[in-house]
Amino acid sequence: MEKASSVCPLCRSEGLHHISPNLVYCRHCRIVVNEEHEEFTYSSEYFCSEYKTQYGKTYAEDFDAIYEASRKRLNTILSFLPAEKKGKGLSLIDVGSALGFFLKCASDHGIETLSGVEISEYGCNYSRSEFGIETVQTSFDDFQTEEKFDIVTAWYFIEHCSFPHKAIEKMFSMLRSGGILAAAMPSLSGPMYTFHRNRWIETHPGDHKIDFSPVSITRLLKNIGFKKVLIRPAGFHPERIVSEKSIFFHPFSFLYKWFVKAFRFSDTMEIFAVK
Ligand SMILES: [Zn+2]
Repeated sequence: MEKASSVCPLCRSEGLHHISPNLVYCRHCRIVVNEEHEEFTYSSEYFCSEYKTQYGKTYAEDFDAIYEASRKRLNTILSFLPAEKKGKGLSLIDVGSALGFFLKCASDHGIETLSGVEISEYGCNYSRSEFGIETVQTSFDDFQTEEKFDIVTAWYFIEHCSFPHKAIEKMFSMLRSGGILAAAMPSLSGPMYTFHRNRWIETHPGDHKIDFSPVSITRLLKNIGFKKVLIRPAGFHPERIVSEKSIFFHPFSFLYKWFVKAFRFSDTMEIFAVK
């Protein structure tokens, strides 16, 4: 299976190893690169029938769960800001804002200046009409602004970019000094990649370019110039290792929770980085 080839888009080193015909692993960067990455078009189907096939409800119907996750993320973001900054004319831009649920949550929590960047026409129209939030319909590559923000967010967006490191550099440039980048993305340091590698490969989305681990994304963020980085697990799934029917499930689950927190062992991770 393993054969040396390819050049790493981050460190430019050669001798990466194929874990599948299109996925290569860089040992130096601890990343997986999708060499056949393609950018999808995100029509209303992406948020409706395709989302429903995967999650059992449409994105719009999933509002409560997404809003609750947004509330927790926002509280963490605000905890990084100095007390005098909180609730005083903060500005926030959400990149890949989808239907605007995180922006709606930020608005409800008193953040005054809000905007979104979203490539999907359906997503833009939804956040404008339902929540009255300014959303620019464009790709992030083509998005241009001279503004500086207190907070830039990107929930499950960076992994879709053809050049994730360039996207993060652009987000860094959009932040004021002391500003926060908050993001969520898949992680290699989780049960799927570690214990179910074949299934991870088979279900790897074609529109994901680079998969990071907590170590590799922290190193990239620090190299770009972020002063402080916090990574935390975004999911807790003991059933991906021990069956829920097993008599060992409950004791395992108890210990696993500690392990997940201590080692950030999760298929998805949340990132909070201070400029
Ligand atoms: Zn590399």
